[in-house]
Amino acid sequence: AAAPSTVALDGRFARELAEMAIPWRAEEAPDPKLLVLNEALAAELGLDPAYLRHPDGIRLLIGNLVPSGATPVAQAYTGHQFGWLAPRLGDGRALLLGEITDADGHLRDIHLKGSGRTPFARGGDGLAAVGPMLREYIVSEAMHALGIPTTRSLAVVATGRPVLRETMLPGAVLTRVAASHLRVGSFQYARATGDLNLLRRLADHAITRHHPGAAEAEQPYLALFRAVVAAQASLVAQWMLVGFVHGVMNTDNMTISGETIDYGPCAFLDAFDPATVYSSIDETGRYSYRNQPVMAEWNLTRLAESLLPLFHDEQEQAVAQAQESLGAFRRQYSAAWSAGMAAKLGLPAGLDDSVASPLVEEVLSLLQAGRADHTWFFRSLGAAARGDTGPVRSLLPDPSAFDAWAARWRAQGPDADAMDRVNPAYIPRNHLVEEALEAATGGDLDPLGRLLGAVTRPYDERPGLGRYAAAAPEGFGAYRTFC
Ligand code: AMP
Ligand code: MG
Ligand code: MG
Repeated sequence: AAAPSTVALDGRFARELAEMAIPWRAEEAPDPKLLVLNEALAAELGLDPAYLRHPDGIRLLIGNLVPSGATPVAQAYTGHQFGWLAPRLGDGRALLLGEITDADGHLRDIHLKGSGRTPFARGGDGLAAVGPMLREYIVSEAMHALGIPTTRSLAVVATGRPVLRETMLPGAVLTRVAASHLRVGSFQYARATGDLNLLRRLADHAITRHHPGAAEAEQPYLALFRAVVAAQASLVAQWMLVGFVHGVMNTDNMTISGETIDYGPCAFLDAFDPATVYSSIDETGRYSYRNQPVMAEWNLTRLAESLLPLFHDEQEQAVAQAQESLGAFRRQYSAAWSAGMAAKLGLPAGLDDSVASPLVEEVLSLLQAGRADHTWFFRSLGAAARGDTGPVRSLLPDPSAFDAWAARWRAQGPDADAMDRVNPAYIPRNHLVEEALEAATGGDLDPLGRLLGAVTRPYDERPGLGRYAAAAPEGFGAYRTFC
């Protein structure tokens, strides 16, 4: 196994943006045990899985063994939480260990969650329980397998320290990998310091890491903003197409890279209902399924406000430029969503919008009226495109309405194989996630392993995995998620 000193962790964020980075150390874990390791991701990062399974490697994964030269930091950021400004959030229970250059030459953050209190912890204990960290592992890896930009999960290590929630729970640290942890809230923080030089350095850092094309533009900072708008429009469209509800789209949980981040009370739709909210703390439905595009646009407006002084010296000019750039969000979102829906229905490329749009709108009405399972409905449409309408009809209380729609749809010659490549058979279904987390919390990791096996090959339907494709049993009831 490689010696720890050969793991090269850069401290680029800590060096370039020291005002936003507090050097800090992870709490010592009394009895660390590796629960799950992502060997494929380790290989991408040039890390030896055998070493990461070794006691030294496990300590590296939770920040208890810090390679020489590394500077773990808690990052400062601001956040609008459910619309209200919290000026000083920051990593309360997380640390950026440093950056690694991956096999493709890209810089990736190695980040810990649940690693102990930091100066940003406020009233929190700085810890995380096994269940929520495994939930992030499962859902982020499922999202990656679905082809949706996301932070990744390298490992979950049980710490041996109990965590007090409603009951005592086993504690854990998640080792997370991301293109970066720059958020809308990072820019809000830099702007609020009043230090324009810091704001500019943060923007330059973001351009270099995520949107290098912006550096060549006539107005690099406006180009950065436009690139973030485009990345988020595409991302949120992908969430909507797959039925993902993030649950806490606060500005500290929206990245500059366009990766999905911070899997808290997230969930996938079961029955299709646009008003769906799962999070127990989202009392007003601010972050309901259907509100996600509007909330993304709201967050991007906060990003624009933060960047205004970099756009133009004259406030009015800066606002005009920001507004014009933000206007692209709706167009880009709609285009991405419409193209994605056409693909879900297997419609031929270039089909006229006057034909495609009504087909899309009507099928969603059917789906909503029937409260059919979102994922299985679209997957079953693949069979319907092959001539077997039995499975999809059985999901709907009024199959005759479907038949009328299907006749018009089939006339367009939907491509069933193409549909199976975009409509997943396996997503992390809420009841299966709960089952896996409950078993893991009790010490049985087998259900977790089996669920990961299904959801990390979501489009490849395999015999024997029927229960991973099936809707929740009736008795599962209304699903509530907690942070
Ligand atoms: P989140 O909702 O996970 O995005 O977290 C919002 C803020 O609360 C961030 O600043 C977190 O670091 C902080 N936070 C969440 N849970 C804890 C905890 N148990 N201890 C300390 N800080 C926490
Ligand atoms: Mg967060
Ligand atoms: Mg969180």
